[in-house]
This record gives sequence, structure tokens and C-alpha cells, in this order.
Amino acid sequence: MLRPTIAQDASAWSHRGDRAALERALLAYSAISPVTSAAAIALARATERPLTAIEEAPLPLGGRERESFAAWQSAASDSRAAGDPSSLLRLVESASPAVPESTTPSAPAEIPPAPLPPEPPRPVATPNRPLSASALNMFVDCRRRWFFRYVCDPIEEPDSSAASYGTAFHAALESFHAEFARPSEELRAEMAQRLDALIVDAFDRARSTFATVVEVKLQTQRARRTAVRYIDWLCERARQLPFEVVGIERRVAPTIGEHQFVGFIDRIDRFDADGSLAVIDYKTGSIAESAKEYRERVRRFEDFQLPFYYWSQEIAGEHVSRLALLPLKDHTLPIVPIELEVVGGGAAPRDNGARGTISILDLERARDRMVEIGDEIRGERIAHFPASDDPEACAYCIYTLSCTARPQPEPERFSR
Ligand code: SF4
Repeated sequence: MLRPTIAQDASAWSHRGDRAALERALLAYSAISPVTSAAAIALARATERPLTAIEEAPLPLGGRERESFAAWQSAASDSRAAGDPSSLLRLVESASPAVPESTTPSAPAEIPPAPLPPEPPRPVATPNRPLSASALNMFVDCRRRWFFRYVCDPIEEPDSSAASYGTAFHAALESFHAEFARPSEELRAEMAQRLDALIVDAFDRARSTFATVVEVKLQTQRARRTAVRYIDWLCERARQLPFEVVGIERRVAPTIGEHQFVGFIDRIDRFDADGSLAVIDYKTGSIAESAKEYRERVRRFEDFQLPFYYWSQEIAGEHVSRLALLPLKDHTLPIVPIELEVVGGGAAPRDNGARGTISILDLERARDRMVEIGDEIRGERIAHFPASDDPEACAYCIYTLSCTARPQPEPERFSR
């Protein structure tokens, strides 16, 4: 009986052509040794071809493995063509384990060495470096992923188009606000022209991090259109709540509890009216759709980003009155930040779509939880890093190939 995740992978390949799922289906095929499977996967990635289309010649295949691999390629191709995983599943299920082939048939048979006993599990020491809000977020999201990322640190995370877009946009805004600390309606045309030029420069400098030239051009156009929306929002904000940008990509390294934290705040504004601060995080990916949704994530200890920025500034002696996530993903919509006003402990939450409130008590609880997680990470060695039980946590995880404990995705209701 095959593991359900193998059936899911065969289905994802057959119905959607999911290449990562096909790689996992090859690793589950016991007629090929793991070393050979890994070599085939590396070759497919290097040549950017599906595993069903790579040549066998460069692979370290013995005679029987060669036949097994050809049979696997044929079954995978048939499954994809028919949109039906049965052929691939049948083959994987019926496979006998690969046996190393002898190159000297006349050599006397050797008595195979007794298998080594498994190494006893031991608690793991965690690295002693400053904590970050994103590390805490990952720790609560999936400890197994945190273990892969921060303890094993096994692979360089590849650049994705989304990550490259975010990095280039952040760089352009950093330069922009170094020149325009006091945005205003009077400067609108000048600001728009300058930001457009900075976006083009930043994306040009980042072109090697995108997969193709077309991708660079498409993402540059998307960013330029989003920048027009950004200028609209900036002018409106300056009219309603006059402010000065007093921090850009500000490095903060507060000690909270007994732990050293580190992070970078995208932007800090100081309001003219009362001298208080707004901390702003630029978001080029998906974010909460309402202030209430974000506040509830903070309350459930699922997101520490803005609470961490809040405390970094409060500890520095500032008064922070607003926390904002600024969406820079969709050029088709006006920019409407998800913004929380910090209110006293006794105040009932108020929400109005993207705007709402968060109580100082919620922020204190988030700070205390940050310290508790820090204690856990820095304390005694950790004996177990359980995998997440939420399939959504795995959507963008780059360790899916190594993670045999990942939860099953929801059944694909309309896959056939
Ligand atoms: S695949 Fe899922 S369960 Fe496994 S490490 Fe990644 S996020 Fe965690």
C-alpha cells in the first residue's frame, strides 16, 4: 500500500504537470537507488526539462536500473497524457528495491555487512544568533521548516520572481525617500517622475535575479504602475496626516526579555501633529485583507512582525501610534494600507475595513510570547521539531522534498 502523499503527488503530476510532485514520485520509486534518483532530478533541473524527457545516458544507471527508469518515464508520460495517475501508481507500487549491480560477475559472493544500528535520536542545539520576527513566525508556523532553515541551513533558497520583485521595489523606495522625506501634493509630478526612474534603475540592477528577460520587463512594468498608485497614496496621506519620513530600512537590534533580536523596518514616519511614529512594512506578497484579520493573527501569536517593530521603537524611547502593512503587489487597485492604531488597554477594538485598532495589551502579550519562544529556542536542546498539520503552511516551503511528515493537501475536488 502506497503512502497517501505518493498518491497525491502522482495525481498532482498527472492533472497539473507539477514537476516537484513528479520528483517526489521518482524518489518514492524503489527500483531506482536514491543516489540515481537525486542525479536524475539534478539533471532535469539543470537542463530545465521534465524528468520524463531527460536522456538516460549521463546518469549512473546499471542495466536493471536503466530498464526500470525507462519504465518509470514511460508510465509518468502515460499518466500525464491521460490525466490519470494509475499507470505511474501501479509501477511505483509494484517496484522491487534496487539492488546494486556487480561489475565483476565472477567475483566470489561477499557476505553483506550487518546493517548499522540507527543512530539514537539526540536533542538538537539551536544556533546562537539574534532572533528575528520572521524566524519566530516560521517557528510557530512549522517547527520542522524552522529546523531545516535555521539549524540545518542546507540549501541556498533560490530567487523567486516574487522575491526579486520585492527586493527591487524596496531598493527603489529606499532611494526615493532618501530624497523625498516630506512628500506633498506640490511635489507630486517631481516625485512621480523620480520614483519611476528609480524603479527602472532598481529592476535593471536586479535583472540577473529574474529567470528571463521577459520576466524582468513584465515585473518592471508592474512595479512602475504600482508606483503611480503609491504616489497617489503618499499625497493623500500627507494631506490628511502630515508627516516626515525619519527612517528607511532602519536596522533595529533591541534586547527583549534576555534575547537579542534583529530586524529592518522598511519605513518610519513621524507625524507633525503629535510627534508620534508610524512603523510601515512594505508588502509585495499577500497580506491580511482587513485590520481585524491582521489583529487576530497578532492575538493568536501567528505574526510578530509589527509587534516587534513596535517594541523596538518603544524601547528606544519613541511613542508609536500606528502600525501599517503597505500592499505593493497589485497595480490594478488603489493602495490601501492595513493600518492599526495603538490604543489603551481598556479600549474595545474598532474596525473599519483596512483600518482598525490594536490594544497595548495585545502588543504586550505578543512581546511576552516572543520572549517565551526565545526561551524555548535558546534554552535546553530541542528534542523534536514537529511538522505543521496545516497543508497551507507547505504551499511555499522549499523543503517539501525532504519532508516526509508533511500534511496531506486537501483532496482536489475538480481534478478530473
Ligand atoms: S513541507 Fe510543510 S510540514 Fe514539511 S517542513 Fe515544509 S512547511 Fe513544514
